[in-house]
Amino acid sequence: MSLHLYDSATREVRRFEPEVPGKVGIYLCGATVQGSPHIGHMRSAVAFDILTRWLRRSGYQVTLVRNVTDIDDKILSKSAEAGVPWWAWAYRYEREFARAYDALGVAAPTYEPRATGHITEMVELIELLIERGHAYTGDPGNVYFDVHSFGSYGALTRQLVENMTTVEEAASDKRNPHDFALWKAHKEGEPATAAWPTPHGRGRPGWHLECSAMARKYLGTSFDIHGGGIDLRFPHHENEQAQSWAAGWGFARLWMHNAWVTTGGEKMSKSLGNSLLTEVVLQRTSPMVLRYALGAVHYRSALEFSDSTLSDAAAAWQRITGLLDRAGAAGTDPAGRIATATARELDQVELPGAFSAAMDEDLNVSAALAAVHEHVRHGNSALAAGREAGEIALQVRAMLAVLGLDPYAEPWRGAAETGDDGTSAVLDALISQVLTARARARADKDWARADELRDQLQAAGVVVEDSSGGARWSLRGDH
Ligand SMILES: [Zn+2]
Repeated sequence: MSLHLYDSATREVRRFEPEVPGKVGIYLCGATVQGSPHIGHMRSAVAFDILTRWLRRSGYQVTLVRNVTDIDDKILSKSAEAGVPWWAWAYRYEREFARAYDALGVAAPTYEPRATGHITEMVELIELLIERGHAYTGDPGNVYFDVHSFGSYGALTRQLVENMTTVEEAASDKRNPHDFALWKAHKEGEPATAAWPTPHGRGRPGWHLECSAMARKYLGTSFDIHGGGIDLRFPHHENEQAQSWAAGWGFARLWMHNAWVTTGGEKMSKSLGNSLLTEVVLQRTSPMVLRYALGAVHYRSALEFSDSTLSDAAAAWQRITGLLDRAGAAGTDPAGRIATATARELDQVELPGAFSAAMDEDLNVSAALAAVHEHVRHGNSALAAGREAGEIALQVRAMLAVLGLDPYAEPWRGAAETGDDGTSAVLDALISQVLTARARARADKDWARADELRDQLQAAGVVVEDSSGGARWSLRGDH
């Protein structure tokens, strides 16, 4: 069995074969940082984190690009309303997203480019599209993609232009209502800092343009997988593909879209207010349980979110950690391996066939979790019969690691110890002693010893940062 993925462009499950053997390039549409992250955003992040982890575990070298849209209409209007600079508004929510990703153990992408950092690349793409006859200028500052100039427009979502719903803004300088903006002219009243010069006048990027330009920069003209939420297929992804194809680029070889989070069977709606913001949900449940809940349903199926979603996830999570705790208890795990095996060691643990087969089948996480729970039951029976369950527990951890749920890995390790019961003072004293020894080694130019001490701290989950005032430490996963 090898990895098969559902391609939402061809609408079939296909055997996954990367363009360059052993390497995978993924572009994932990230956040428009205009407000706080809700669990729908996190579902997408978790789904593609599981994909990345499974590809890496399968031996691929993965380059994951997840962009940050830090300029758009909503960022401008909301920041103006709040009376703060648009970039301050965007940065604030970019940080909130980063904290939410960290809290849920979503591994950092290889690159996380911001739209405003790639204006040059976008203007170059506009010039190329004009040159090739697929874009035209309107009023000063406006540039549009000419959908009628490009026969394959509509290919991704299998629509004919004449049957498409008009989603684009009406504008008198457009040739066709379906033409979409590559570049938008600076408007009266908008901040001067939200406009950049182009050969066609000052303005700012249309949303779709950034992803084509940034995918090209970080992954090349053609790459393996493009991902995002199902709501992005049209018009966003259709337009991304049209721009890139019209520029002569191959673009994405396979498209993956995650389904919505629903409540009461409907797409999670604004009427729910703030109740499904990640931060708010995390006030009533632990991040491991939320991650479990968000990842447990197949990424292409709607995830119905209710209170029982979280309580079911909590119960399942407790069954798993219960086994690991009991298997790791003194006497049954004399070497203490269950709690101490590193990520690299877990990579060497052979995964149960049923688990791998499920993951290879378009990331069938629910079947993969069934394999996890089956092993938990085996482990419980072994312990009940007075046998040890070390190997089973390690297999369970290895499977959980693929799903980003290994309770002994970051950021979950030590999650139960966040309450201050005096241990933090003890911890500080112990770590300070190690840091003093390291400072001494550095003063003696004994770099090997200094590095060894830092590595020891790192292995224990302590991050050391050198600053002008000396070394500072924090626990990985702290903010
Ligand atoms: Zn995009």
